[in-house]
Amino acid sequence: MGELLDILRRLSEAHGPPGFEDEVADIIVSELRGYVDGFVKDSLGNLIAYKGSGDKSLMLAAHMDEIALIVKSIDDKGFIRFAKLGGIWDQLLVGQQVIVHGSKGRVRGVIGSKAIHVMKDEERRQLLTYDKMFIDVGARSADEVKEMGIEVGNFITIDKRLVELANGLVAGKAFDDRAGCAALVQALKEAKPRCKVYAAFTIQEEVGLKGATVAGYAIKPTVGVAVDTTIAGDHPNIEPHEAPIKVGSGPVVVVADGRRDSLSGGLIPNPVVKRWIVKVAQERGIPIQFEVLEGGTTDATAIQLSREGVPSGVIAFPTRYVHTFQEVLNLRDLEKVVTLLVGLMEGEMPF
Ligand SMILES: [Zn+2]
Repeated sequence: MGELLDILRRLSEAHGPPGFEDEVADIIVSELRGYVDGFVKDSLGNLIAYKGSGDKSLMLAAHMDEIALIVKSIDDKGFIRFAKLGGIWDQLLVGQQVIVHGSKGRVRGVIGSKAIHVMKDEERRQLLTYDKMFIDVGARSADEVKEMGIEVGNFITIDKRLVELANGLVAGKAFDDRAGCAALVQALKEAKPRCKVYAAFTIQEEVGLKGATVAGYAIKPTVGVAVDTTIAGDHPNIEPHEAPIKVGSGPVVVVADGRRDSLSGGLIPNPVVKRWIVKVAQERGIPIQFEVLEGGTTDATAIQLSREGVPSGVIAFPTRYVHTFQEVLNLRDLEKVVTLLVGLMEGEMPF
């Protein structure tokens, strides 16, 4: 468990907003060197590690990007306004420490807002939207901000350390989907594949599954499987019927995902792939949870629709507070995801 935790820590604390994932890719390369047959980095920034040989190929995908912000404007007094990259609930942003990735390197800042003391009663009860927030880097003017190397279009990420909680739980940022990357890295280290495995560490998932779209086309796999977070509902203020998945109860096989209310735009996994994942889990003694995920999807959706179509599925790990900057998962679930991925790589493909 120690090794997996170390990889997760490195990847979670790294900074990889959509369109700027190189730091994450570099960590993955450093972890995997010597364990895979080679790497390819495509023109969009996807990192594809390959291992094994054979006529059939298995594409496993985990995305490197995280929800983030981008500099939208800088005012005369040196305060920065921003736009959001990915689905972020505005309330979570107030008071966060951030890093602005400028041309002269990283600049620390905080997300500021009006103090509660000066808010009218009505204001206190209202939700604060992101357009009423700003980033304070300590500058006194727009010129000073410019001097620091910051300009419109710079990426902004939240700065957060991973912490260990009781009972094998860990909390940190960007577990969506760095925990998927960590599981895939660990599985590649352990597996002796029976087919050609392409592990695609994809870019810009949070803004439209972009990396997986081109990687799926380039790889042209026999089968595609995405590894990503899913919503755990085992905490207050959410009912079991809304989110039945529990942290600590094992990996999740997603049986359908997509937009809330219609499940359109998502994935209905290939039934043979789904059965294969379940069979491998049973063979390796891994408990499985099944989920219909309304309100989200994964890279598997893009892989499925590449070329003439690729039989695809999703392996997920239960995560609390997804798309906050303090997601919580159980390392034992993630270890079981590793075992399951190893099982797929070493198993016989049903195609
Ligand atoms: Zn996400």
